[in-house]
Amino acid sequence: MDLGLREKVALVCAASRGLGFAVADELAAEGAHLVICSRGQDGIEKAAGSIRTHGTEVVAVVADIADPADLKRLYDRAIAQFGRVDILVTNSGGPPAGQFDSIDRSAWDAAVSLLLHSVIDLTRMVLPGMKERKWGRILNITSIASKQPVDNLMLSNSLRAGLTGFAKTLANEVAADGVTVNNILPGYTRTERLEELIEFIGRKEDISPDDVKARWHAEIPMRRLGEPREFAALAAFLVSERASYITGSSIAVDGGWTRSLF
Ligand code: NAD
Repeated sequence: MDLGLREKVALVCAASRGLGFAVADELAAEGAHLVICSRGQDGIEKAAGSIRTHGTEVVAVVADIADPADLKRLYDRAIAQFGRVDILVTNSGGPPAGQFDSIDRSAWDAAVSLLLHSVIDLTRMVLPGMKERKWGRILNITSIASKQPVDNLMLSNSLRAGLTGFAKTLANEVAADGVTVNNILPGYTRTERLEELIEFIGRKEDISPDDVKARWHAEIPMRRLGEPREFAALAAFLVSERASYITGSSIAVDGGWTRSLF
């Protein structure tokens, strides 16, 4: 299937590793040009070097997506290089884990900046051009936590649900302009972040990494973690020409973990 992504310009946030990197790499493999960001110079340059092997243009920008000035600089760099953004993939690191009692006002504010304001600000920047060209794709990397709360993830569970409401409302507002807005929900996927989480839980509970994984496997009908490339395959489809009639959807890539009907 030709996804129709050749020569499209995609801005993928938080893409030095993990899911963001996998999505950027998949889009480049399909012929898209990329603007990618993360906070560290070395990491984002290394990622860009690897993605360039697909032969498309890749611009690496050091930017903290929780910082509005960095977001503006990121968008301006994309426009300076390509003159447009056809596809926006929002992403970030996960907010800190914790229950209600451990989260103070400043932690809530920081998580709101990271998970909500970053998406809203970037959307505000890319949307006018997408509407003008009558073509655009906005895809938010959220979490299965937006469909089924995960224990100890108060910030993620709360704010991703808020983002889902934002995206669904926006999807309806811009649908007639040829712009789709969707969410893609990772389940337990084998990224560096998950490996760190395995180490953390193992140390905290004095159990082996294999025991941590076994516990997760028991919750997942497929009995294994997901691979970033399995996630990236759906992401590439959702931002493609071929997904032109899908908008306002939240689709999990979770091996069956989410127990809800929809
Ligand atoms: P990861 O830690 O492997 O990668 C995160 C990427 O984000 C890195 O490139 C990092 O440099 C970048 N980053 C972090 N904070 C940033 C910031 N403020 N500004 C710019 N870049 C920033 O994580 P991942 O596993 O790829 O997860 C991506 C998202 O998906 C997270 O929000 C995570 O909570 C969510 N998620 C992941 C899983 C999973 O199993 N991997 C499951 C559910 C949800």
